[in-house]
Amino acid sequence: MYSSKSLRPVWAEVHLGAIRHNYKKIRAHLKEDDRICGVVKADAYGHGSIEVARELIKIGAEYLAVATVDEAIELRGNGINSPILILGPADPNAFGKFVEFNLFPTVTSFEYAKALAEIFRYRGIFPRVHILVDSGMGRLGIPIESALIEIEKISKLEGLIIDGIFSHYPVSDTDIEFSTEQTNRFANLISDLHQTGIRPKHIHIANSDGIFNIDSATQTPFNMVRPGLSLYGYSVCDNQELINSMVLKARVADIRLMKKGETVSYGRTYQIKKEKEYIAVLPLGYADGIPTLYSNRGKVLIGDVYYPVTGRVCMDYMMVSLEENRFGVKPGDVSTLFGEGKIRVETFAKACHRIPYEVTCGISKRVPRIYIRKEKDGKNAE
Ligand SMILES: *Cc1c(COP(=O)(O)O)cnc(C)c1O
Repeated sequence: MYSSKSLRPVWAEVHLGAIRHNYKKIRAHLKEDDRICGVVKADAYGHGSIEVARELIKIGAEYLAVATVDEAIELRGNGINSPILILGPADPNAFGKFVEFNLFPTVTSFEYAKALAEIFRYRGIFPRVHILVDSGMGRLGIPIESALIEIEKISKLEGLIIDGIFSHYPVSDTDIEFSTEQTNRFANLISDLHQTGIRPKHIHIANSDGIFNIDSATQTPFNMVRPGLSLYGYSVCDNQELINSMVLKARVADIRLMKKGETVSYGRTYQIKKEKEYIAVLPLGYADGIPTLYSNRGKVLIGDVYYPVTGRVCMDYMMVSLEENRFGVKPGDVSTLFGEGKIRVETFAKACHRIPYEVTCGISKRVPRIYIRKEKDGKNAE
């Protein structure tokens, strides 16, 4: 959970209106009764899982997903009662928590399912699980070749309820052909399972890019999707329909008038070339999540003007050149690092060789999150 208060003039706005807009865009790709499992792992990709989860539930998300049992317990502790899927295997020490907090485990093997079933049986409760099948991701899950046999075995475990079966894409952003092939193989597995009488309620494969790029991922038999990134308004393939929900801002701490030959910041990588140049000091740096790769590369928006980052990004400060300061920037003026205007999170990410996921996850706890409920205008986010 993030704080929403700080004495520093640095903050990340989280626009719940943008999340609502993005949710609607996702919904528009689905069939009427399909379910959305909103992925809020890693504190909702840095946006704050509790606020985001509350908003998602309010607008109709049926399920939530997180990566770890601790993340799920935090949601439960804050009054979130929806079904929560844990997206990967948990340590056997945590099995009791599945029961205590009513969480949906992901099953990645017959042995894992058996161990789970035993713990639950001991407590007199039937676990409802989602089985993960590896159809090409090459990470976790039952290999698709042996999935029919393994899932039949799992289905015979006493008292275990298969609530869902899912798979995951490695290249839904870049390779439609591979992903479609993967989708078809997984759909064939589902129809083979139907033949043997195994009919789990939820069948899902699509993450964000799967929803927008792979048509078959939202057709029968699929009836659930697991968006994360797109809910927050980012895309690795330039999806302009989405509105960035995080806007990182800081007030200008100081403005320095520097003379020809003087240098800015560690390493002296930026030297003043003109007779004089105004340099604005912003009170945030890599400890807040601005990568040092942004040094001498990025741009920052102050008023309506984009100013270049000059010199190295420090732990707590970074500098931008105002040149002659024609627009009269003053200490205390608000600067925008990303999320608005031409600096989308995606643009920021590219400039520092990151993916958008890393950018928002990387905005540290030191930066308070300020939740904004009204609609966010996405029209100038080109
Ligand atoms: C993180 C994750 C997602 C969400 O992916 P996005 O690309 O952010 O939409 C979906 N499914 C699984 C298994 C994940 O780990």
